[in-house]
Amino acid sequence: MGLFGRKRAICTICNKEITHKHKAKREWYVKSPLCGDCYLDKMKQSYDATITQSCVVCKIKSKVTDLWEPRWQWDMEGLLCKKCFDEKESNFETEKDFCSICGCKLKAFNRFHPKGKWKLKGLLCKNCWDSQKIHEKENSSK
Ligand SMILES: [Zn+2]
Ligand SMILES: [Zn+2]
Ligand SMILES: [Zn+2]
Repeated sequence: MGLFGRKRAICTICNKEITHKHKAKREWYVKSPLCGDCYLDKMKQSYDATITQSCVVCKIKSKVTDLWEPRWQWDMEGLLCKKCFDEKESNFETEKDFCSICGCKLKAFNRFHPKGKWKLKGLLCKNCWDSQKIHEKENSSK
């Protein structure tokens, strides 16, 4: 053991040699060790992130306390400002209410997400979803 001598510590962010190692926090998603400067930078960044964040839609920065969490049905991550939240909510309401092919009213149990390759927006009723599925099969068996 010890053939290679003591490995010098290099900061994973700036690649400088470190005299005093700092351990990165797990929530920063960076590897340890860090030099003092990078450590302080990260500390500051993560502190800022706890008080301000940008809206995932319009990218405007706001205080976290003024931002809204997206509804789980929207399938999004991050936070939204009030304006984008309201917009999203009203769009979502109209999008989800009708089948985007036949226009029939969709009920909660009769509402299907089209597959990505169908290039369709919104949601489909069971009938239209099934017929898309059949189309897809016919096309791929040709
Ligand atoms: Zn560094
Ligand atoms: Zn926004
Ligand atoms: Zn339909």
